Amino acid sequence: MNIILLGPPGAGKGTQAQRLEKLRGMKQISTGDMLRAEVASGSALGLEAKSMMEKGLLMPDSIMIQMIEKRISEADCRNGFILDGFPRSEKQAIALDEMLTKKNIALNAVILLEVDDEALVARLAERCAPDGTRREDDNPDVVRARLKVYQEQTAPILPYYEGSKRLKRLNGMLEVEQVGKKIDLLIDSAL
Ligand code: AMP
Repeated sequence: MNIILLGPPGAGKGTQAQRLEKLRGMKQISTGDMLRAEVASGSALGLEAKSMMEKGLLMPDSIMIQMIEKRISEADCRNGFILDGFPRSEKQAIALDEMLTKKNIALNAVILLEVDDEALVARLAERCAPDGTRREDDNPDVVRARLKVYQEQTAPILPYYEGSKRLKRLNGMLEVEQVGKKIDLLIDSAL
């Protein structure tokens, strides 16, 4: 079972991906986490990612497409994966379909977590990791920039998935466990 979780920053994609990883053994593929690991390693890619993330801007499509193509081919993704943070542009969505077709990998569901903007700013202002650390790009100014980028560059991919009847919408404002149960139902019905 391979799925995409879509939604603006703070919609709960990461939380739900982690839940699915724990309960169903699917692998969470978070492009944001992959980029943060590059930043931590001090690589050239990490330096570029740091400057883009600080501004809330997207990394170039070509880099992200290459990164995801390599990642989904790895052995730990064979039991299924959850894309969390990819695709984020129409170019990425089309490239993903092409690479999945080429590799003969199915995409079973595209799930959109819908939430309202003001709730997101509030949620992200409070968000912190289990160790108490906070993401630098969760401050309100960068959050607003990330939401704008989402509306302008990522939301246009929704008609792409809707047009091919693959998009499932969920109310992401519900409690975490309720959203999780709704995702379970969608996944089970796609089996
Ligand atoms: P996230 O953790 O998914 O919120 O991603 C954090 C940041 O990483 C984003 O604001 C972008 O700067 C960058 N990023 C993550 N995924 C992508 C992607 N698929 N395309 C372009 N930039 C990305």
